[in-house]
Amino acid sequence: MRHRIAVVGSGPAGLAFARVLHRHGHPVTVLERDPSPDARPPGGTLDLHEGLGQLALDKAGLLAGFHALSRPEGQAMRILDTAGTVLRDWRPRPGDRANPEIDRGQLRDLLLGTLDVQWGRRVTQVVPGSGDGVLILFTDGRQETFDLVVGADGAWSRVRPAVSSVTPQYTGVTLIETSLDDVDTRHPDLARLIGDGSMAVYGVNRALVAQRNSGGHVKVYAQFRAPLDWHSDLDLADAEAVRSSLLTLFEGWAAPVLGLLRHGSVFVHRPLYVMPVAHTWTHVAGVTLLGDAAHLMPPLGAGANLAMLEGAELAESIAAGPEDLNEAVRAFEERMWERAGRWAKITTAGLERLVSPDPAEALALFDQLR
Ligand SMILES: Cc1cc2nc3c(=O)[nH]c(=O)nc-3n(C[C@H](O)[C@H](O)[C@H](O)COP(=O)(O)OP(=O)(O)OC[C@H]3O[C@@H](n4cnc5c(N)ncnc54)[C@H](O)[C@@H]3O)c2cc1C
Repeated sequence: MRHRIAVVGSGPAGLAFARVLHRHGHPVTVLERDPSPDARPPGGTLDLHEGLGQLALDKAGLLAGFHALSRPEGQAMRILDTAGTVLRDWRPRPGDRANPEIDRGQLRDLLLGTLDVQWGRRVTQVVPGSGDGVLILFTDGRQETFDLVVGADGAWSRVRPAVSSVTPQYTGVTLIETSLDDVDTRHPDLARLIGDGSMAVYGVNRALVAQRNSGGHVKVYAQFRAPLDWHSDLDLADAEAVRSSLLTLFEGWAAPVLGLLRHGSVFVHRPLYVMPVAHTWTHVAGVTLLGDAAHLMPPLGAGANLAMLEGAELAESIAAGPEDLNEAVRAFEERMWERAGRWAKITTAGLERLVSPDPAEALALFDQLR
């Protein structure tokens, strides 16, 4: 018997889930609140690890497509001190494909392929145990029922309350994201400073990170410890006011490094929230969560990777055709919690060391990882 399956969200988790189910010939309804794939800027670059995100793409039959699009040279990483001195300069060896980078938009299009996503379908609530299945309520007043609803709807999931009352908490660290276009021709000095991949500068309780995307686009993240209301006297929509506030916050840092902020265009405020390290729930028949909806963690290169692998693994478990769908989901949840818990611990400790009172901690962390 074919189960009626819906996934809420077309981020890395939802698309990997749908794509692998599709590959196994199972129909799945993909519900996405955005009105179209390009309704929002897709965000920065992602590094996909061999045993995580790349494994998921392999399960979806998309690994060759990933290799064609990804940037192995983007694995390069340079660390500077606040005076602008280069402390570390790692470059990938030829053929190294452990963590190549890919633009989020490219990854989304690769995963989308010919999938039939229902755009503009914003879910407000999921009600398990409603008559003949799990009821989904939409903002436009419509309702639909499924045998399984998979919440892949990110940090502020509307599916999550059906299984857990836990909500994300502020980490004490805020990011302000800005970007530079056409960096090689418009800002050649910054292009040289950044190199082929990422560049990071660590100071006391703050950091500046620049990451190359394709086509000469660079995303810059100013990171600092601050209370949630740090901007009460600041109009976050006023780019010049935000720039000036950041230049004050990073005062004394080398001029070439501050060029990343001086030339940034739009500034986007991203306070970092996380779910508790070991977020689990009592299994609820017909509902589960994937990715950030289940285990939002600091953005240190794991979230999208885990989200995709979870999507692919849950799809494979369902496609294996167990008699009892909920047994497959329950077993998957145990595996997801165990692996996500390990990564949540690593990334939480990582954030403490990267944005810390002692910048030497950040360098020591990178040295350990390398
Ligand atoms: C600055 C930054 C850098 C990062 N870098 C990396 C990295 O290099 N590597 C890495 O692995 N991870 C990285 N991450 C983490 C990564 O972005 C997330 O972990 C990942 O996107 C989670 O995928 P997801 O599919 O679970 O959720 P999301 O990507 O958040 O997707 C959720 C989807 O659900 C949709 N949605 C939400 N609510 C509803 C609703 N009510 N109804 C219908 N649809 C809805 C959204 O529109 C969205 O399309 C980074 C995060 C940040 C903030």
